[in-house]
Amino acid sequence: AKKMRLDKLLSNMGFGSRSEIKKEVKLGAVTVNGVVAKDSGLAVDPDADDVRFRGETVIYRDTVYLMMNKPPGVISATEDGRERTVIDLLEEEDRLLSPFPVGRLDKDTVGLLLLTNDGQLAHELLSPRKHVDKTYEAVVEGDVGEADRQAFAEGVVLDDGYKTMPAELHITGKEETASSGVKSTVSLTIKEGKFHQVKRMFEAVGKKVVYLKRVSMGPLRLDESLPEGTYRELTEEEVELLR
Ligand code: URA
Repeated sequence: AKKMRLDKLLSNMGFGSRSEIKKEVKLGAVTVNGVVAKDSGLAVDPDADDVRFRGETVIYRDTVYLMMNKPPGVISATEDGRERTVIDLLEEEDRLLSPFPVGRLDKDTVGLLLLTNDGQLAHELLSPRKHVDKTYEAVVEGDVGEADRQAFAEGVVLDDGYKTMPAELHITGKEETASSGVKSTVSLTIKEGKFHQVKRMFEAVGKKVVYLKRVSMGPLRLDESLPEGTYRELTEEEVELLR
């Protein structure tokens, strides 16, 4: 199979950043076919060579981490009988690695969507106990004000009786339209991810979300240079931030 650098193999498999791997190699922690590796840039065949980290055999699986700027009109699932999914937007070589979306955005929601085949990372980002921050920009019909900011800071009761955790609302703009009255632009950070949560929080204060875009998830920020419907691989630094 194709050769790759030893440090890349080990950092892809979650043994540390490339600079951490370099230190481990210097300390003699890595062997290749029974020989202590001296150079973290050594070219290895991940399928054929016997690579061990502190004695532990490294089993190679090609991982992929993609940041998509989700467009409206596609659903964030891997398969759907009728509708187009975010997976349909991927190049074949990426699709072959079987990435899946980490969490869901509604069909009409746009913005940051992480896709990966790293089940452990996905699990940690989605774990309800971890309270990973998600920040959204929204356009809301109506005059969003200080009372709403306070209500969200304290938690609002959704239509199913659930009381939301404290969330941070910033009112960033207002627009008066001739036809439909005032519209507000806001940014909202929530620490949980209930079904349709942002829309339902605004419903709880009598207002309607008409545009919704996710701009960040934990330490990961949407790359605003990505047009809607396109994606790129995460950088090594971004993958490290998530771990
Ligand atoms: N909240 C929503 O209401 N919809 C989304 O897509 C994401 C968060």
